[in-house]
Amino acid sequence: MSSLAWLLPALSALVGVVHVHHAPSHDSSAPFEEVLAAAFEAELDFVVLTDHAPPGAVGPLPAAERAGLYTGPEGESLLVLVGAEVGTSDGHLLALDVRELPRSGKDVSGAAAIDSVHALGGFAVVPHPFSHGGWRDWEAPFDGLEVHNNASAFSQLGLLIPPAVIASAIAPKSVLRFMLRRPERELERFETLLAERSVVAFSGADAHRNVSILGWRLDPYARVFSAVQTVCDAPQLDPEVVWRALRSGACSIRYRIHEGSRGRKQWVEFPSGRRERWLGLGRRVLEIGQRNGPGMHPRTGSDESRATDRSVSNAPSPRGSRTARP
Ligand SMILES: [Zn+2]
Ligand SMILES: [Zn+2]
Repeated sequence: MSSLAWLLPALSALVGVVHVHHAPSHDSSAPFEEVLAAAFEAELDFVVLTDHAPPGAVGPLPAAERAGLYTGPEGESLLVLVGAEVGTSDGHLLALDVRELPRSGKDVSGAAAIDSVHALGGFAVVPHPFSHGGWRDWEAPFDGLEVHNNASAFSQLGLLIPPAVIASAIAPKSVLRFMLRRPERELERFETLLAERSVVAFSGADAHRNVSILGWRLDPYARVFSAVQTVCDAPQLDPEVVWRALRSGACSIRYRIHEGSRGRKQWVEFPSGRRERWLGLGRRVLEIGQRNGPGMHPRTGSDESRATDRSVSNAPSPRGSRTARP
């Protein structure tokens, strides 16, 4: 493959973040204008709002009126897409590419809510599968799984949360770099699912802009939007095109926060055929690719390893020869 052919998909990549809350959610008071300003500051092409809907609510999505194309201070474009996050008896669920709310509430199973999303023509993503209530029904026909979620990464700090909060006020990027490790458990589950069926990996910003200490804002949108991003092979900044890219897995997850870090970088291929770009021994990751995503294009001259069995997702260093994909 010529180097020019490799460049083509990269030139058409759109960068965005998925899973953003603001004032319509019960746990955020941030105005929409802050989301917009931060998205332009982080140089995003698209943002997917997923505000919480009250249990059992029906009808329009929260903040449905915010969907559309916006122009930034320097003439740049930003596409705002609107979905919703709903509660089910099996955990939270993101309803995406729908025009109205699916069934939800404590008496609605995850599978029933997902069926409702599908009946509305949309797709359903399980967010934060192992934190914030987690997810219980792994047989349910969800279309996507958040393998990364900022709120999950933060909660996994455990006893380190109080010092991390204090350190965030002084050196926020260092805390993020420390906090954002490769999400082992989620990726292991993702590989297990891929062995049985098609499922798409998502990165959830789960941005709320609702954490502050002594008036010091610890989770401004721009910081969250710049840390981990979704990069899609999509030729146009058009709602249908971007929804299709997200739904089909034509996107990879990029850990911008670790770019420029020192340490050995290597591509690692998993049994499902998807690839990740590891930093160091894989405790951190620069990119999580999937079968249809930009990370799957062959690269020449890259440092590449092949994971020969599923257990590698738990192992810091895979064994195997360097290979070049045909
Ligand atoms: Zn949630
Ligand atoms: Zn959320």
